[in-house]
This record gives sequence, C-alpha cells and structure tokens, in this order.
Amino acid sequence: MRNIFKNYRIFDIDPKRSRSKDFYKNMLEYRTHVMKRFASAIKNPSKFSCLLCGNKKGKEFLALGKYKLYECSRCALVSPNIDFAHAGGHEMYDDPKNIKDTTREIVATYGYRKKVHAPERLAYLIEKTGLKKSQIKLLDVGCGPGYFLSYLKDKKIKSKGLELTEFLVGVCRKYGLNVASTELSKEKLGSYSVLTAHGQPAEYALSLPAHGIF
Ligand SMILES: [Zn+2]
Repeated sequence: MRNIFKNYRIFDIDPKRSRSKDFYKNMLEYRTHVMKRFASAIKNPSKFSCLLCGNKKGKEFLALGKYKLYECSRCALVSPNIDFAHAGGHEMYDDPKNIKDTTREIVATYGYRKKVHAPERLAYLIEKTGLKKSQIKLLDVGCGPGYFLSYLKDKKIKSKGLELTEFLVGVCRKYGLNVASTELSKEKLGSYSVLTAHGQPAEYALSLPAHGIF
C-alpha cells in the first residue's frame, strides 16, 4: 500500500482533548446509523468515477462491507464510490444523530480546538501562502461552530465562514462570527486571498478551485 501520509505534516495535537471520552464507541454507533440510512448512496463498482479527474478506472483500496474506497488508476486519489446526491446536504447535516454527534465531538471541544488547532492552521497557511496577516481575507468553507474564525477574529484577520448545518450557524452567531448558510457558488469572484476547507468531503474540497473565487 502507498504511504499516503508521505509529504504531510503531522501536527502535535492531543486527540483525547479534541474528542469525547467514548469517541470510538460513539463513532461506531453513528457509523452504523449512517450506513443504514444512506446505504442506497453506495454505487455499483462498475459506476466508479474519480472525484478529481473523472477517470472511470479504480482499484479497491479499503473495504468495510459494501462500503469501499477506490484508488484512481490515473491520479491516485482515494475516494468513496458513493453518489453524493443521495448522501449529503441538509438531509445528512441536520439529521438529529449528526447534531448530537457534532455537539459532543466538536462543539464540546471548542475551547481546545480554538487554542491548539486554530493557531496550527493559521501558521501552516501563512507558511504555505507567504501572505502577511494583513493580506489575508479568508473564506472557511464548512466552518462548523467557528473556532477557527473566532481565533482569526481575535487576531484581527478578515474572515467569513460558510456552514450548511443550521445549528452550527447558530453557534457561530452566538460567538458574533461572520457566517452565512449559503452555498459556495454564491460568493463573489475574486473576493478572497485564502480558502480553507478543514475536514470536508473530498468531493466538496476538490470543487473549490473550480469556483474560482480566490
Ligand atoms: Zn483520478
């Protein structure tokens, strides 16, 4: 198997403080629920199409029952063979179990994430882009409860968040953050110098450059 972590930075983060005490048990319960509810989104292997380059040839990379990840034979992207039209959007994000799961895992660890994850992310993007803080105008796509935006706000860095999960938009607003629940395609061309999409589904993250809103 390829070493997919080659060339990636390993950050110094304490996973126990980023997650709930029973994280693994909770994760398995949530996964069972999602697999059952969205089983129809799993495509036939013959319908595989790479999310990055559109190539139709991929080999099985990892499997959990009928849920499989495929590695593209052309660009080597590993992606799930699912139809996002049947597993995504409000149906998934506003699912009561997702709200419960996100509240316990992300909202409850807001303080630690803001203190540890956010500075790491800012330092990393400054290193990668070479921008000064004053040059940053950032759009955080899928900003969750907004701990990264909150950190940027403290540092007086211009930013806006997009979040489709309604209760998370509420959390952001409670913290007085600049957030909208609209789609990325509604943003104006050339409005931002940096775009972040932490932990977003590959399909969504990969669509970002196509929108050309940098
Ligand atoms: Zn590909």
